[in-house]
Amino acid sequence: MLNIKKLLLLFILLFINLSTTLFANTNQRITDIRFWQSPEEAQVVLDLSEPPKVSDVGRLNNGTLYFDIKSCVFKPGHQRYALQNQFLESLSVQQNDDNGSTRVFFKVPHSVEAKTFVLPSNERKGDRIVIFLREPQSKILQKQTAELNEVKKLKAENIKIVVLDPGHGGEDPGTSCNGIVEKSYVLAMAKLVKAYFDRDPRYKAILTREADYIIPLDKRREIAERLGADAFVSIHVNWNVKKAISGIEVYYESPKGAVNEADRLVADKENKADFATLGSTNPVLAASKNQIAQMQANIMDQSRQLAEKVEYKLSLALPNLPSRGVKRAGFRVLHSLNMPSILVEYGYTSSKIDSAILKDYTSRTKLAQALYAGISNFLQTKVEGGIDADYLEYYKAMNAKKAKLEADKKKKAAAKKNATSKKNSTKSSKTAAKPRKHKVKHGDTLSAIAKKYGVTVQSIKTANKMKKTDVIKSDQILIIPAK
Ligand SMILES: [Zn+2]
Repeated sequence: MLNIKKLLLLFILLFINLSTTLFANTNQRITDIRFWQSPEEAQVVLDLSEPPKVSDVGRLNNGTLYFDIKSCVFKPGHQRYALQNQFLESLSVQQNDDNGSTRVFFKVPHSVEAKTFVLPSNERKGDRIVIFLREPQSKILQKQTAELNEVKKLKAENIKIVVLDPGHGGEDPGTSCNGIVEKSYVLAMAKLVKAYFDRDPRYKAILTREADYIIPLDKRREIAERLGADAFVSIHVNWNVKKAISGIEVYYESPKGAVNEADRLVADKENKADFATLGSTNPVLAASKNQIAQMQANIMDQSRQLAEKVEYKLSLALPNLPSRGVKRAGFRVLHSLNMPSILVEYGYTSSKIDSAILKDYTSRTKLAQALYAGISNFLQTKVEGGIDADYLEYYKAMNAKKAKLEADKKKKAAAKKNATSKKNSTKSSKTAAKPRKHKVKHGDTLSAIAKKYGVTVQSIKTANKMKKTDVIKSDQILIIPAK
């Protein structure tokens, strides 16, 4: 994979040098080509200087796929690269001098599914064309079934499953400071931690990624859940604009993050209800929102115990790398209802002290060993049964606040509706809605007046705010309520 990337980079550098001089009249150019791969999928990303105009994907007789980028320059001639990759046999780019377009050819093995799409620029990235390649779904399912069988066997033997999640990867490098690139650093660290578990027959440690590729945040959690993980630990290094900030932090789910997740799960459940199959065993699908909160409070208490045990071991690992303690944050990787989950920030790359320690081999080993020891300590001691009472309190308070907001909104909407309907009815039937008035004549009685207008005596009294003992007088104006 590295070779491919180097090759592509070399190719790009060549192109940039040539294109700027040879094709100065065309404004768009390809600025980079990148290739990322996970065990199940791969992406070729073409970076562009402007939003591209791309043709539909065509197919040559030999099965090669291609598309054109209009008004786009590339290195003249036809460059072809045999990648010998499980997802991509070849990739080539050809500049068409006649119409100023560039054609991208790619050939995928028979079983690979390919999709091409354009991604618009955002704050972090420019315009891109992505060739997305994936193993066929059937093959992925086959792999997952084999994996599940393996997990069942491990569980039967009471072997604990630990999922280690090296943060970031591929397109997303994480922080990058003082010679540490987070995505590479945490991958190496996770492998080191895994090595400790590998030597211990009580455990099976699995990484969410084993190379330099990106995995969506929810998928990291899903991988661990699918594997029936007994503990999930995401590994990161931190960064801060204040360079003096230094130390280790261990996070678990925050009440705020959990409330949002409960809302999302309920919304998701409602969406999924349309597709619900009978006999569904997913407990979340069957749970009410309050039950979900209860499950969260339960698992959060376990996450706290895991976080505390890990933080304790890490705080003792290196005297020069202090612990900033256990903290809570609504990170998406920490939302699981199935397993205790924590996120470890192994110090600040922005700190000169921390980064020097993090780069030191002996220190790294100690930090890896401490994480292993902390997780192991948690998994070998009986988890205290408990719930996160703080969370349930927060959950109730937030729900009450939401209910009040909702009620206020309804009240406002109703008042508005009332006002409009009154206005409308005034318009449509002027006589009916016009407040009626009666000038009391000598000898009038309330009951006679009520009879005349077809209303009750009491309703007249109420409309005129009369007390029980009040009597009517001549020339008094009475408001007559509607029937
Ligand atoms: Zn990170």
